[in-house]
Amino acid sequence: MKIKHIDHIGIAVKSIEEGGKFFTEMLGLKLQKVEIIEDQKVKTGFFPITDSELELLESTAPDGPVAKYIDSRGEGVQHIAFRVENIDEALKELKEKGVRLIDQEPRKGAGGARIAFIHPKESHGVLVELCEK
Ligand code: ZN
Repeated sequence: MKIKHIDHIGIAVKSIEEGGKFFTEMLGLKLQKVEIIEDQKVKTGFFPITDSELELLESTAPDGPVAKYIDSRGEGVQHIAFRVENIDEALKELKEKGVRLIDQEPRKGAGGARIAFIHPKESHGVLVELCEK
């Protein structure tokens, strides 16, 4: 598997509009795009930083994964995403190594990316997303 760079860091917030103010007004970042991922019950807002991005995540439903995350742990860093060259190969390799995955096959993420999550129990509590764009 070839990890190219940190693609983005996902931060769970109650509201992208409210939560994004710190990053725009204080840090000078720009909110580039907002997208709703229906099957994940999440609205995403991306703030590009050269080759990486911050991804603010706002739940669109009280039972969505981001809402549950905030309920139990509060707002904050929710996942780290590594850009890989070939996500199919990466998942195959991880399965062969016996790594528990949340997604057995890639699914569609924001911006048309192909993404898959590794189980956080494997990575010391860090939810790791692999993404291919
Ligand atoms: Zn992500």
